[in-house]
Amino acid sequence: MKSILKEFSHLFFPNYCPVCNNKLLPSEEGVCLQCLHKLPKTNNFNEPDNLAETLLAGRFPFERVATFCVYSKQGVLQPLIHQLKYNNKKEIGILLGKLFGKDLLGSEFINPIDFIVPVPLHPKKQKERGYNQAEIIANGLSEVTAIPVSIGNLVRSIFNPTQTKRTKTQRWENVKDIFDVLQPQLYADKHILLVDDIITTGSTLEACAHALLKSPDVKISIATLGEVF
Ligand SMILES: [Zn+2]
Repeated sequence: MKSILKEFSHLFFPNYCPVCNNKLLPSEEGVCLQCLHKLPKTNNFNEPDNLAETLLAGRFPFERVATFCVYSKQGVLQPLIHQLKYNNKKEIGILLGKLFGKDLLGSEFINPIDFIVPVPLHPKKQKERGYNQAEIIANGLSEVTAIPVSIGNLVRSIFNPTQTKRTKTQRWENVKDIFDVLQPQLYADKHILLVDDIITTGSTLEACAHALLKSPDVKISIATLGEVF
């Protein structure tokens, strides 16, 4: 029933590419092929000491960091991430995750990974949005690489956001403990690929890593769709 409705809605309300606003062909899902070809890919999974790795170096132990594209306000990736986050376009997240996965497939970056772990969204935000965009991207990556997605172990605790009466150190303590790993043993001796939509300062990823490091001998790599530095 749902697919019939979807076909009808395609007939009467054709989809448009969120980047160039041209009508999408029936074979195109979420974004047109021309715009996909314009994605400013970094291909930095082959490049140790890339910009993202330099940003995170020394902050916590990690193996590798890879980003799919450069994210800029006028760039191709910006409207796609916007549609994924604020307009319920989950298919865009799946598509970008799959494209990233195809690039990574068979590489030394992806081969040692045991679990793909999306950065959890604040429960209140996830309730509002109905899904976690990082999990959607992770699902796309998993579809291509066949590496399982692990959710529910790395969690975001509901914390009191009122920070005004705290000292600077207390604030960091507060931020640092946003995330927790419920069953550290599950990730013991495993190589985790932590996935998020965009890396900017890296503080969210750093806070996740602090929680993941509760697992004995865990290894952490990171993949994001966009990088903004
Ligand atoms: Zn387009």
